[in-house]
Amino acid sequence: MSAGQKAIRNPLGFSLDELWQARKARYHGLTLDEYKQMLGRQGGRCAICLRSSSTLCHDTGRVRGLLCFSCNSAIGLLQDDSEVIARAARYVN
Ligand SMILES: [Zn+2]
Repeated sequence: MSAGQKAIRNPLGFSLDELWQARKARYHGLTLDEYKQMLGRQGGRCAICLRSSSTLCHDTGRVRGLLCFSCNSAIGLLQDDSEVIARAARYVN
């Protein structure tokens, strides 16, 4: 950093990760504690593919679990319909 640049500081002392989690929690309609508990129960992983992801998202409607962007998109494209998703699963087997 040059002498003319100033470091960007968060006046409240939150890390960028904490601010991101707070934003995601609000998006899901959860408190930050509820979001952290859900993420903790899932081991920080997507509820479907079990891959660790920093872009965890939610399914449509109620929050059943935190999903990565890919899984969230996939079930949305499959109309969030368990019968369609089951047919898709049988198709790939
Ligand atoms: Zn996933």
